[in-house]
Amino acid sequence: MTATAPREEQLWSRCAGCASLLYRKRLRRNLDVCPECGEHTRLGAPERLRQLVDPGSLRPLADRLPEADPIDFVDVLPYPHRLTAARASTGLVEAVVCATATIGGHPVAVAVMDFRFLGGSLGCAVGELITRTAERALDERIPLVLVTASGGARMQEGVLSLMQMATVSQAIAALREAGLLTVSVLTDPTYGGVAASFATNTDLVLAESGARMGFAGPRVIRQVTGRALPEGFQTADFLLRHGQVDMVVQRRALRGRLVALLAATHAGAPTRPSVPRQEPAPHRERLAADDVAAARPPEADGTPPVRDAWDTVRMARHPGRPTTLDYLDSVFDGFVELHGDRLGADCPAIVGGLARLAGRHVMVIGHQKGHTTAELVARNFGMASPAGHRKALRLMRLAARLGLPVVTLVDTPGADPGVSAEEHGQAAAIAENILALTVLPTPVLAVITGEGGSGGALALAVADRVLMLENAVYSVISPEGCAAILWPDRSAAPQAARALRLSAPDLRRLGVVDEVVPEPSAAAHDDPAETALRLRAALLANLLPLLDVPPAMLVRLRRQRFRRFGATRAGQRAGVR
Ligand SMILES: [Zn+2]
Repeated sequence: MTATAPREEQLWSRCAGCASLLYRKRLRRNLDVCPECGEHTRLGAPERLRQLVDPGSLRPLADRLPEADPIDFVDVLPYPHRLTAARASTGLVEAVVCATATIGGHPVAVAVMDFRFLGGSLGCAVGELITRTAERALDERIPLVLVTASGGARMQEGVLSLMQMATVSQAIAALREAGLLTVSVLTDPTYGGVAASFATNTDLVLAESGARMGFAGPRVIRQVTGRALPEGFQTADFLLRHGQVDMVVQRRALRGRLVALLAATHAGAPTRPSVPRQEPAPHRERLAADDVAAARPPEADGTPPVRDAWDTVRMARHPGRPTTLDYLDSVFDGFVELHGDRLGADCPAIVGGLARLAGRHVMVIGHQKGHTTAELVARNFGMASPAGHRKALRLMRLAARLGLPVVTLVDTPGADPGVSAEEHGQAAAIAENILALTVLPTPVLAVITGEGGSGGALALAVADRVLMLENAVYSVISPEGCAAILWPDRSAAPQAARALRLSAPDLRRLGVVDEVVPEPSAAAHDDPAETALRLRAALLANLLPLLDVPPAMLVRLRRQRFRRFGATRAGQRAGVR
């Protein structure tokens, strides 16, 4: 090796697509696209911004936030060490760069994610920065452009990272209501919580050539299904074929295409004013004071025994645990099931329909598992398909039109991670539910009854009040999945379960859950009748006060509830235990 070798290496690089040796400066001039084969190399956020916005127009937004390690997460390395290393290697403060700028003379607020920074993972700070960018767009009445690149939620921040999907989504919902354009540009790779929220719930979704986007990653899907994946699975062209993106754009055409879209939608010009919702006030029965008093759930006697998180996980998954259909029979009356997403499918993992709770009409929607293997298989283990999420969405909107409150019962290991689910837009289906719930003008009450698994759970749980049965769990990732990635060994699942803070008492402390519903002394599956009585009392106690709140106020309060999971509060909660 000669003395000039390192310098030579910096001048040349080998294409990952065709293995051609390329002169670096030539590659950069070609926007980091291989001139031989067209391979699009991944871009960091600063270079992406340089390519997209008008020269001299970039005004970076503040990116310093209080340090957040909200759950004191330690895997093989303490989380703060990983953050420090990511900062040193990228020169960035976080995994997103936010700014205002002009594109072809059109003012925009823009947030660009950087995959080099902890895989572009969505933590509290990233969620907060993107939310502030969206809020800036709203203040200035300009469009929002998001460029995504992410492996998903940041598991080191636990379920608070999951909450960022709701936080950012509701900021996007506010732009939608105000008639301001939102555009996302999917770049390679965009997965998990980012794919299932702001990457796909914008007005327009563009995919850069070569970008892959999906809810579950290819490795997970292969493991779960044991199937080989079709050629081009989850690539931009696949997404286009399956109706999930508006267009696929070559990098060299991306800026021009954005300019055209911004111009065509009259972006930046005064748009139609936000129309206040004028929902007819539904007939609501006045509450008798003793009605509420009678509905108070029984208090747990004394201090509940502290159960190990892993034992709680096993309890939450117990096959004898009451299911949504069991509760529909024991807690509610007169259930009439409604079927279908009106798009060609009826998912058995989600059940929903009209029912009565103490004489009041409600819409109930929940995940359905089963007690026997045959039942579990028939219900896909409570893992909803996109059709299931779309059925839930249809029922939520129907409830709002009819002035009925929505009660959701959450019990899922997660959304269906299969090939077909991806082909039918799992990420966008979850994203749309989250967004719809943030603006649904009717009371929404969610109960985590068993497993609250990741985005599939959140798709039914953006609610005014979130309750949780004592032995339920709610988590951004399964303990097994977390252990496999971070320890990395699935046998570390019990440690991961403890680190993730997924139990009801932990989540009550974090403010993710409003009330823990005590289970009978053994567990729900030992005394389903008593569990049903307690759940019914808790539902009434929490739902009745919501019935008198005007819809606009409900939506405002719901937004405040999810807005508070931003980085600032998470930082204040650092010493959660
Ligand atoms: Zn090449």
